[in-house]
Amino acid sequence: MPVEKAYKNVALKGDGKRTIIEAGGLKIGISKVIIIAGPCAVESAEQIIECAKIVKHAGAHMLRGGAFKPRTSPYAFQGLGEEGLKYLAEARKKTGLPIVTEAMDLSQLKIVEEYADIIQIGARNMQNFSLLKNLGNVKKPILLKRGFASTLEELLLSAEYIYNSGNPNIILCERGIRTFETYTRFTLDISAVPSLKELTHLPVIVDPSHSAGKRSLVTPLSRAAVAVGADGLIIEMHPHPEVALCDGSQSLIPDQLSTLIDDLSKVARAIGKEL
Ligand code: PEP
Ligand code: MN
Repeated sequence: MPVEKAYKNVALKGDGKRTIIEAGGLKIGISKVIIIAGPCAVESAEQIIECAKIVKHAGAHMLRGGAFKPRTSPYAFQGLGEEGLKYLAEARKKTGLPIVTEAMDLSQLKIVEEYADIIQIGARNMQNFSLLKNLGNVKKPILLKRGFASTLEELLLSAEYIYNSGNPNIILCERGIRTFETYTRFTLDISAVPSLKELTHLPVIVDPSHSAGKRSLVTPLSRAAVAVGADGLIIEMHPHPEVALCDGSQSLIPDQLSTLIDDLSKVARAIGKEL
């Protein structure tokens, strides 16, 4: 006798039917792997527009960039806030790329919704239950990142909060978990992807940048993510990582992003997908 899952609504059902999320004219959760790329943070209008052009030229599908940044240190760059959202909108207008950007708390939700095509909820907020319960009030899809000390069941229960609040448009993101290893910033839990595919009908993407913390590891981890069935990737790229205000050491340079995307289309084809 099958026992019902604690996360009733986001659990994969017997019919195996999967959710397809529509955002900015794109579909996520089909056989086309979606690449989201851009800097960690929006730093200026010029910077994000330059990034958007590079991302588009490389063949990626969406632009990322944080205007509200959750930083471990209170002394680190906290993001440009609403000004950053305006620059993102300009970058979208110039390139046509839809935007993924983070909301950190309830007070930012309305304004982020106005500008974003997908609203990112960061790892540190995966269990901010009052925020999750309010995501039903926004009409945009949610990119829910896994907390770095959270189990897959906890991730799915957080997704269930969002679903139950009235927003069924949720994309899950594996972004690395904390282990005893210190060589990498976090440990990419690659098994999370096929595991989540067994457990939920929601699309699953991978963030190799925050997992690795190092530019040199982003390409191999991205290949692995596509190979194990990720529906997409969210990758940090900066035209001048040495002067980036945030996460420069894990940001690809433009040429690396182009090469990676060419590479990933081969991996995608090998498993019957496209990019
Ligand atoms: C980010 O995407 O820039 C970010 C802060 O990610 P995470 O919440 O996974 O640390
Ligand atoms: Mn970052």
